[in-house]
Amino acid sequence: MDPLPTSEPSRWRERARSFAEAEVLPLAAEIDRTDRVPDALIRRLAEESFLGVGLPESAGGSGGGARDTVAVLEELSRASSAVAVLVAVHLSVCAAPILAWGTAGQKERFGRPLARGEVVGAFGLTEPGAGSDTARIATRYVRDAEGFRLNGTKMFISSGVCAGVLLIFATRDPALGHRGISAFIVPANAPGFEVAQRFEKLGLRGSETTELVLQDVRLPLENLLGDEGEGLRVALGALTGGRVGIAACALGVAQAAFDEMVLSVRTGRADWGRSTVARSYAELSAARALVEKAAERKDAGLSFVNEASAAKLVASRVAVEIGSRGVELAGPQGSRAGAAAGRLWRDARVYPIVEGTTEIQELILARSILEPEDGGNP
Ligand SMILES: Cc1cc2nc3c(=O)[nH]c(=O)nc-3n(C[C@H](O)[C@H](O)[C@H](O)COP(=O)(O)OP(=O)(O)OC[C@H]3O[C@@H](n4cnc5c(N)ncnc54)[C@H](O)[C@@H]3O)c2cc1C
Repeated sequence: MDPLPTSEPSRWRERARSFAEAEVLPLAAEIDRTDRVPDALIRRLAEESFLGVGLPESAGGSGGGARDTVAVLEELSRASSAVAVLVAVHLSVCAAPILAWGTAGQKERFGRPLARGEVVGAFGLTEPGAGSDTARIATRYVRDAEGFRLNGTKMFISSGVCAGVLLIFATRDPALGHRGISAFIVPANAPGFEVAQRFEKLGLRGSETTELVLQDVRLPLENLLGDEGEGLRVALGALTGGRVGIAACALGVAQAAFDEMVLSVRTGRADWGRSTVARSYAELSAARALVEKAAERKDAGLSFVNEASAAKLVASRVAVEIGSRGVELAGPQGSRAGAAAGRLWRDARVYPIVEGTTEIQELILARSILEPEDGGNP
């Protein structure tokens, strides 16, 4: 039984569910084993308009709002978290900020191909010495008459290999802190841009996690997104939207683990697990309500900073909990290599880290609740 969405199902949810069941789920174990999402599947995501959901049709997107986007991400993640994360990153932290902050020329040249799914997008903020504390980034840019020159290293960047366009953050001078940071649109074929390595992970295998090196990457003036010094605002805005997407992905993996758990109990393999199913159902429903609330506020044009953090914090924690109980209920079968329960738990375990760790969500919420004069929406 599905802990049903609190509002009426969207057309996008039904489409995403049928697509995910027919074309993603059969590949999920292989994606995990080979650590690769096939190019053909990425093309199918584009053909089915999932790489443009939530983005305006006038800009090349597939239309729909935040509620549709979270429905799609949840359904994709229910089949394969790696596939869902590729879509979430592409939509929320690359295409959406380019369409929100871009000039008419940038929207046409970079936003439209992204929204149409002709290229995959990525987001490069984290560095070897700067994760949670984004103001510490050390990738430098220099401005001259022809444009910008970027030098530095980005760490743990999702979709680093398959991306055609990346949103990259660099500083004019690290001593300026957040005021020195600017956002740049970097085509992956820019000379000097290189994928230095790809990391093997515990979970979310198939989602490429990479180290990127920028060595004298030259960009024309028109590749600056927003004004100089506005980069952190671009990044934080993108990450707020991104958190809702990642929360939806976590929800999808939690739902899949729950489905497995129900099967174990129903078939009598774990009839001692009835109360675990009941508890998991309640937690999953609560997490879904938070994700939907954040998406609803976004669709209504209201601030959703707190809701995004609460949804991400709770959904990723619930995913880890339910994933872990799923392994328990699956018994010895759950510990076998390739077992669905094990894969779902491993995938779930990564969600508390990406797009701002649990501790960072706690900091955002605590500041907003305890010092509301500094911003936020308590
Ligand atoms: C699978 C995966 C995909 C990723 N994809 C991307 C991507 O596409 N683009 C991108 O830019 N980044 C990406 N990241 C990076 C991710 O956003 C960072 O790992 C995360 O923000 C944490 O940064 P860090 O790794 O430097 O850890 P740190 O910031 O060093 O944190 C280490 C630990 O300390 C805690 N901590 C840090 N500061 C505080 C504080 N002030 N108070 C309390 N606790 C604190 C953290 O919560 C964490 O538990 C990805 C990471 C992973 C694992």
